[in-house]
Amino acid sequence: MTEAVSKLTWDLESIFPGGSASPEFAKFRKDLAADLESATRDVEALRKKGAAAPAEEWIDTMVRLRDLRERINHGGSFAYCLSSQDVNDEKAMVMLEEFSSYEAASDALRTAVEGFARAVDDATWEKIVSDKRLSGEAFFWNEFRRHARLKMEPELEKLASELAVNGLHAWERLYTKMAGDLRAEFTVDGKTEKLSMGQIKNKLSDPDRSVRKQAFEKYSEAWKSIDSLASMQLNSLAGFRLSLYKARGWDDPMFEALLYGRIEKKTIEAMWEAVEAHRGVIARYIDAKKRCLGIDRLMWYDQLAPVARAEKKFTYEQAAEFVIEHLMSFSKDMGDFARRAIESRWIEAEDRAGKADGGYCTSLPLLKQSRIFMTFSGNYNEMMTLAHELGHAYHSYVLKDRDYFARSYPMNLAETASTFNELLVTDAALNATDDEDMKLSLLEKKIQETFVMCCDIRSRFIFETKFYEERKKGSVPKDRLNELMVEAQKEAFGEILDEEGYHPLFWASKMHFSISDIAFYNFPYTFGHLFAGGIYDRARKEGPAFADAYRALLADTGSMTCEQVAEKHLGADITGQDFWNDAVARSLADVDEFVRLVK
Ligand SMILES: [Zn+2]
Repeated sequence: MTEAVSKLTWDLESIFPGGSASPEFAKFRKDLAADLESATRDVEALRKKGAAAPAEEWIDTMVRLRDLRERINHGGSFAYCLSSQDVNDEKAMVMLEEFSSYEAASDALRTAVEGFARAVDDATWEKIVSDKRLSGEAFFWNEFRRHARLKMEPELEKLASELAVNGLHAWERLYTKMAGDLRAEFTVDGKTEKLSMGQIKNKLSDPDRSVRKQAFEKYSEAWKSIDSLASMQLNSLAGFRLSLYKARGWDDPMFEALLYGRIEKKTIEAMWEAVEAHRGVIARYIDAKKRCLGIDRLMWYDQLAPVARAEKKFTYEQAAEFVIEHLMSFSKDMGDFARRAIESRWIEAEDRAGKADGGYCTSLPLLKQSRIFMTFSGNYNEMMTLAHELGHAYHSYVLKDRDYFARSYPMNLAETASTFNELLVTDAALNATDDEDMKLSLLEKKIQETFVMCCDIRSRFIFETKFYEERKKGSVPKDRLNELMVEAQKEAFGEILDEEGYHPLFWASKMHFSISDIAFYNFPYTFGHLFAGGIYDRARKEGPAFADAYRALLADTGSMTCEQVAEKHLGADITGQDFWNDAVARSLADVDEFVRLVK
């Protein structure tokens, strides 16, 4: 090799050499497909034996299911990396579809195990999950059985899944298509251009208020032009979901989200009550922000307006060093890990054309490694993305030696390590600067996040709760959806938003209401943000002495409920309001300093 490799690109060669043309990867896929096929055949034979089948054979099947899922995850991650580093890599796109078909194929195995788990007696099951091959992930398997018992007969569930491909999930695809095709005309400096919804939404954080206002109006008009379709789509998606819940005997529309979130409803309720109790503090922040922006009424489109323009530029090396140094100041383990990840080129950060948007961290379970994807052009926000994604990678690293099914954690806990890193690095950046404009800008980013979690996200939760209740009685007309949305915003924002500042069509414009895999794609954000803040606060008080406890907490996120994790590692009862009152107060602790700086 004569050509020097850029430190800003990642290493995929050591996973499977040759990119999407890799012969090694082709063999990996071929073996996987063959093993899936034979496992499916064997499980069919096992199922036919019924009660006569020895438990030992079921243990084998469960181990096989785990092994196959791990390989699918590994190969799927690799294909995903290929497709995002070069959006024109068509082979990689085809491979991604190939991996979703493997996943679907492994569902046959899963359904068979579910059928067995439902039917088997407690004593036999107990023996099976305490077998040393499965005991490391006993939490997962017990949950698996409980879920199977809460659902319909496996054959009916299988039919429902098949119908959902062109039913429930098709409504999400339709939404994606509608939103993707929608355009709005936007005029700047006398020039008019047609913008996508994503492009126009970016303008909501423009420093110029007239730009934000125009963006919001054009955006709303565009959604208004298809609101009948959007209402039909949302009502159909929700209707499908409610029929399925009814057939399973699930009365509460939130039941599934709570189940998969491994969380109790009273925890969520306690959290929202604490949020509500702190609206006065948020209002003080907003008053200061309004003074800063020179406005007297806060409209929907002012929420993300920047208050300061201080932007320091960093090189990738500087950003990486800054992040490593401050992770190191809390935990040598975390700092060492980050350095290793960066030096081993686990991170794709180059700023070039042809890459996908956004950032993510994905794990390669068979190698016990991660890869991080992002684009670094020198901004502070990108340094934060680096810290954020390194948090995800550290989380995977801490879990790497657990059995595969004990490594997956619920969405509520998924952002713990990433948010923790962001808080650590933000505070370090705040300490490192004397520049008041810079300080204001950093504090604003921090508080704004909490503001979004406590008001915007909460309004989505309130809307969804009320919408599903009404949807149970029949289709909800679009005008009523607008009304419900504004009512929810009034409840969550109180006096913070101006009487004319609401966003009635938010139900249509927000993709999250149309995610077909799970409803209530909102409270986990707020939970994760506030929960991570609580852990960070502990770290700040106890310093490096808390590093081992923090690591132990992360390591248990795949084998406990949220309540159990908090109880065991923080000694906290998160079903009560005390924990949340502290958490919200802490998240807003910088408001005083922000108000002072504005003055
Ligand atoms: Zn994240």
